[in-house]
Amino acid sequence: MNETALRIGFIGLGNMGGPMAANLVAAGHEVCGFDLSIRASDALVLAGGTAATSLAHAVENADVVISMLPAGQHVVAVYSGPDGVLRHAKEGALFIDCSTIDLENARSASAAAAAKGFEMLDAPVSGGIAGAAAGTLTFMVGGSVSGFARAEPLLAIMGQKSVYAGESGAGQAAKICNNMLLGISMIGTCEAFVLAERMGLEPQKLFDIASTSSGQCWSLTSYCPVPGPVESSPANRDYQPGFAAELMLKDLGLSQEAAKLFGTHTPLGQHAAQLYKDYCEHGGRGLDFSGIIKFLREKV
Ligand code: NAD
Repeated sequence: MNETALRIGFIGLGNMGGPMAANLVAAGHEVCGFDLSIRASDALVLAGGTAATSLAHAVENADVVISMLPAGQHVVAVYSGPDGVLRHAKEGALFIDCSTIDLENARSASAAAAAKGFEMLDAPVSGGIAGAAAGTLTFMVGGSVSGFARAEPLLAIMGQKSVYAGESGAGQAAKICNNMLLGISMIGTCEAFVLAERMGLEPQKLFDIASTSSGQCWSLTSYCPVPGPVESSPANRDYQPGFAAELMLKDLGLSQEAAKLFGTHTPLGQHAAQLYKDYCEHGGRGLDFSGIIKFLREKV
């Protein structure tokens, strides 16, 4: 271990956490990871890290504790459960939660960390599995400015951009709003292609025109939901994810919880959540979120 290397406890080594932890190892840091899945832990060992036998083992010597877990209840359990990381981390450790979770749980995890004298950041990501593997994620960060400064060198290994969003929870707020907009824009893009097909307009023609007109958006130009125009789109691989529809449904659910909590009228967000729920219940769950075009096409 060189002088600038840090000891990192990494909790949650799944599709995203696994490659993020591997990138930290490749950059020379000492990573001790914990996951409930043996397969996920084994992959970290193959990448050069250490597999912890418990949460306590993963964090007891860590300078920084990073978590990448499915949802809010997992983060709260990992932080504050009877064997939780806040009980076992050493003094001065920095906590960074990169999971996408609701604001309430993010803030309560941060308050629990602060009560034990730890600094904690919420730092959800955009960029998906490909971005996690390539180290090109975007981090949106909530918490203290000093915590952000401490985290930045590590975030720069796992990602290409980190934006400080504001106080605790601001990173999650940014992620929730971004993904509500993404869900809505993907459905709109799909509707435009289906209508164009029915009117006899070639999909490539719609792409060529809309991508340089006022209908332009990321869902069209970077993640086109029809095969052909954008080589890297899951549409060209029979909608294998990518970003799974069930994760989009989860994020739209978070947006609707937030809308309710903060008394906000989001009719399109609400409708998008319902459409993704229907799509997931009709075979879309494990497919890419852009595959909702097939579900919309089948409706008359
Ligand atoms: P995943 O299900 O592949 O990985 C989560 C991992 O956490 C699993 O390996 C699971 O075993 C582990 N885990 C669950 N509870 C645990 C516990 N108590 N202790 C230790 N390990 C535990 O999910 P993912 O795709 O890696 O997503 C992780 C987070 O990143 C989610 O919040 C998701 O919304 C967010 N996210 C995912 C993507 C994506 O494209 N997959 C993109 C952006 C954000």
